[in-house]
Amino acid sequence: MLDKVLIANRGEIALRILRACRTMGIKTVAVHSTADRNLKHVRLADESVCIGGPPSAESYLNMPALISAAEVTDAVAIHPGYGFLSENADFAEQVESSGFIFIGPKAETIRIMGDKVAAIKAMKEAGVPTVPGSDGPIGKDEKESLRLAKEIGYPIIIKASGGGGGRGMRVVHTESNLLNAISLTKAEAGAAFGNDMVYMEKYLEAPRHVEFQVLADEHGNAIHLAERDCSMQRRHQKVVEEAPAPGITEEIRNEIGSRCAKACQAIGYRGAGTFEFLYENGEFYFIEMNTRVQVEHPVTEMITGVDIIREQLRIAAGEKLAYEQSDIHVNGHAIECRINAEDPDTMMPSPGLVSNYHAPGGPGVRMDSHLYSGYTVPPHYDSLIGKLIAHGDTRENALARIDIALSEMLIDGIKCNVPLQQRIINDAAFQQGGADIHYLEKKLGMS
Ligand code: ADP
Repeated sequence: MLDKVLIANRGEIALRILRACRTMGIKTVAVHSTADRNLKHVRLADESVCIGGPPSAESYLNMPALISAAEVTDAVAIHPGYGFLSENADFAEQVESSGFIFIGPKAETIRIMGDKVAAIKAMKEAGVPTVPGSDGPIGKDEKESLRLAKEIGYPIIIKASGGGGGRGMRVVHTESNLLNAISLTKAEAGAAFGNDMVYMEKYLEAPRHVEFQVLADEHGNAIHLAERDCSMQRRHQKVVEEAPAPGITEEIRNEIGSRCAKACQAIGYRGAGTFEFLYENGEFYFIEMNTRVQVEHPVTEMITGVDIIREQLRIAAGEKLAYEQSDIHVNGHAIECRINAEDPDTMMPSPGLVSNYHAPGGPGVRMDSHLYSGYTVPPHYDSLIGKLIAHGDTRENALARIDIALSEMLIDGIKCNVPLQQRIINDAAFQQGGADIHYLEKKLGMS
């Protein structure tokens, strides 16, 4: 097993990784910015290293500082968590060329999946269903773009190959806007991502977001851990996630899930990953692969019993997957509410001193959070301060548990989005299951 792991992240995910390491007897190194000395995992880690000032660019995105921290502490591996450098192929490469294990896929895999045109091509070849589209870059030949859009049928969406975080996309409803939209998106993509390659896809009007969790080892084994529904989104940010996805039968799950697992084998994937799909009228359309652990991984852990971070650590140590596909069963239902330090009405960030904190509990209730009474949420980072997860033998029971758990949660001193989460959990359409990705924004009067 790995002797010592450096955790190149902060907040709840750093604590989650630390806990997995401790249960496996792996020593831990926490790294933190000067604004993060009081993070819970920093106090619990075997060692800690301050890597720079509060701005992420000086600390959590500072590759030389992270690698030096691994060198001075004799760590053998680096876990990037999510966000920050977790999908940065250059970082993965530097980690490995400096003699450390990167807990994630090979740099070349991250690079392919970070380039959407290349990712879609690889997935299509591996038998994963994709969105009807240009199957490659567009923009050079205007006539061909017009022909292609007509063939696909409007509305279509122009997307930047190097885009991310919901940026670099433009929907086109009529032919007369097409060429202008292509050149605008190209120019924006060039400026924002340093890569002006754009491609075209059919625009799906009311899809759901359904994603499959996979695990793959270095020995050619790959499995899926069923799917999650993450359709409750605001500005392309997930707000509530659940597993399994309402209405997906075991037959469909096995069909799409096994295609994802096979695709992992085809591309030599290593570690945990997620295949994101749009799901509309019973069809799955691949949009991208995330080559890291995701915020919403706990709902999958709750229904499958698999500790995903533990598997990441085992895979990184070169071990074989601890499970075969036939060992994986969906047990009940799990729902996650992201708890953000933000005003529940305006959604403006609300950092500051948490004067009093009390986490909910009870059967099937899990709170992944680095909060404690007396902790100050710094203003420099993402507003996620925790994740409340509830499991039940049915979706109805999971809903009842998460509703009660939300009402028990006490976070004094700062504003947080618990009232918004209570509205969602008690919303009739959400309770019904299967709302599309635009539902939450419509409910909130945003569109
Ligand atoms: P990013 O990497 O920026 O998150 P994605 O390709 O995952 O980009 O797309 C982000 C979001 O944009 C999706 O979750 C969906 O809401 C919307 N989107 C992307 N492609 C399409 C499409 N073909 N039809 C409809 N909506 C889309």
